[in-house]
Amino acid sequence: MKQLIAANWKMHKTWEESIQTAREIVVGTYNQLPANREVLIIPSFPHLKAVSDVLAKQKNYFLGAQNLYPALKGAFTGEVSPAQLLDVGCSYVLVGHSERRHVLQEQDEFLAQKASFALEQGLKVIFCIGETIEQRQQGRTKEVLRSQLELGLKDVQKVDSEDLVIAYEPVWAIGTGQVAQEQDILDAHAFIREFLQKTFSGAEEVRILYGGSVKPANASSILALDNVDGVLVGGASLTAESFNQIILA
Ligand code: PEP
Repeated sequence: MKQLIAANWKMHKTWEESIQTAREIVVGTYNQLPANREVLIIPSFPHLKAVSDVLAKQKNYFLGAQNLYPALKGAFTGEVSPAQLLDVGCSYVLVGHSERRHVLQEQDEFLAQKASFALEQGLKVIFCIGETIEQRQQGRTKEVLRSQLELGLKDVQKVDSEDLVIAYEPVWAIGTGQVAQEQDILDAHAFIREFLQKTFSGAEEVRILYGGSVKPANASSILALDNVDGVLVGGASLTAESFNQIILA
């Protein structure tokens, strides 16, 4: 199983900046990419095709989208279908990112529809879960993770384990500079692995990423932890200079 090093560019960058950064990432890492790593770039919708062209035919470099709508096509103004994402070269899509849950108020039921539909349509899904600081302080971290997994993956009956990726992203660690303690990451990832083993056959092959203030200085120690099969990076993925250090960490 290869580790996945993913860049979530959120609502950042111009067209030119997206192309330029993607190029710098490929040029700066291609020849040294460890054999057990894959790179994923997740730009904003308007830049998917441009970044797709940069990544085309680059082995081990993939394109992802930040969102999808769970329908084949139709009157859903402002939304984007899995077929449209596949058509521009996406292999992955994020579902349940903390900003979708907490800023856009997306609920478990809707996230479950997105996850199962995207998988059915042939996209790999990075399903994001994580507790808020209040939930952690109340000692409810595992309860929250279990509930997000149970509700969000309830319609995912049969899945090729390589197509599902879980990202553990404690809400309080996203964009705050406050990375989770190694023991917290170990505990959460072991808990998620155990849940997956009870739920899916081939669960050992489901990758579990950590996300939340990953940067060049902490990437290698996080990537060395048990059950950490990659990282999902926001802020530190915005420049090739810092993201390339994480890719090669
Ligand atoms: C994210 O948005 O998924 C994320 C982990 O952001 P950051 O790396 O900036 O904390």
